[in-house]
Amino acid sequence: MEQVDVVVAGAGVVGIAVARALAHAGRDVLVLDAAAAIGTEVSSRNSEVIHAGIYYPTDSLMAQLCVQGRRMLYQFCDTHGVAYRKCGKLIVATSTEEDTKLDGIKARAEANGVEGMRVLTAAEARELEPNLQCTSALLSPETGILDSHGYMLALQGEAEAAGAMFVFHAPLLSGRAVDGGVEIAVGGAEPMSLRCRTLINAAGLGATKLARAIDGMPSQLVPGTYYAKGNYFTLTGRAPFSRLIYPVPVAGGLGVHLTIDLGNQARFGPDVEWIDTLDYRVDPSRSDSFYAAIRRYWPELPDGALQPGYAGIRPKITAKGAPAADFVVQPPNVHGVPGLVNLFGIESPGLTSAIALAALVAERV
Ligand SMILES: Cc1cc2nc3c(=O)[nH]c(=O)nc-3n(C[C@H](O)[C@H](O)[C@H](O)COP(=O)(O)OP(=O)(O)OC[C@H]3O[C@@H](n4cnc5c(N)ncnc54)[C@H](O)[C@@H]3O)c2cc1C
Repeated sequence: MEQVDVVVAGAGVVGIAVARALAHAGRDVLVLDAAAAIGTEVSSRNSEVIHAGIYYPTDSLMAQLCVQGRRMLYQFCDTHGVAYRKCGKLIVATSTEEDTKLDGIKARAEANGVEGMRVLTAAEARELEPNLQCTSALLSPETGILDSHGYMLALQGEAEAAGAMFVFHAPLLSGRAVDGGVEIAVGGAEPMSLRCRTLINAAGLGATKLARAIDGMPSQLVPGTYYAKGNYFTLTGRAPFSRLIYPVPVAGGLGVHLTIDLGNQARFGPDVEWIDTLDYRVDPSRSDSFYAAIRRYWPELPDGALQPGYAGIRPKITAKGAPAADFVVQPPNVHGVPGLVNLFGIESPGLTSAIALAALVAERV
């Protein structure tokens, strides 16, 4: 049976960043992905926002890795020619009840180490964004947007330059804990068995299924996966704002916000729709709730201006109504399978956090 040093399951942004970190550390890395190319699932169906690290519970992995990852990501973009814009974001209150929440959001952001947060009066916010209606706002100057595919290609290029190999159409079907590592069965066009010293489970929406298929992995340590779909609607015409505009957060997500891509196309979303099977279609009738949510901060949104865009699916590990979970990084000393590191619940801010998360994984193996 063929022996390899490290297998990374999944070539989304996290798997690619882990492959790069481990290849830089001198390990021989093989990345296997079930799909035909890098980043075809969660990593290409998101808001492409570089999050500052505002909302997450202080001391959570999400808070730490988002703040660290954001700093590392801006530096990576600067040194690798990845397109981005540090455009900033406004979290807008549209009632006196929401006004009172902004101070709490600011305090948490500062406890997380986020720089430059500032509460603005309605007049100050409108000076920055004349089309905005609000009662007050919180400015986050560190938030930005990026070309997420360019980012993944740059990470992949570096991983390959350091010796990592990527193989596609190669789903990991199952595994078995063996002495000094894991034996894995790979399906696809050329099924094979491999033995590896280290296995990184970065399979995103497939991570819990893969962990369950590894003989020796204690099932009580594998969380459930719950799909929380986020639908986007695009705006016909020019973006009415130059910064990202977010409402005060809602349960399960950050609320229907406006993001802009680097081509100045405005999109609104993602909302939260709990689903049982992977389905990326956007139901046009959901636009009703979008018009209502957006008009709270942009009353001039014209009728008929929203078109169904695309959808992404959050790999949640807690069910609807349950408290939100942190990122889970499970090294061998937690579950006892030699060489296996499971990554569960890598939803937002996973794109922002990927380089810092990869550094953490590399440290644990
Ligand atoms: C709607 C939405 C909006 C978001 N917005 C943002 C944002 O603005 N900013 C931000 O920082 N984060 C955001 N995120 C989060 C971010 O996109 C994810 O955290 C990140 O992309 C996760 O990357 P990943 O590599 O873990 O998963 P993925 O990109 O899904 O990669 C997993 C890979 O594993 C492969 N795979 C699955 N099973 C197997 C198997 N058995 N064998 C081999 N391969 C397998 C898949 O084909 C896939 O390529 C958002 C997420 C969603 C859903």
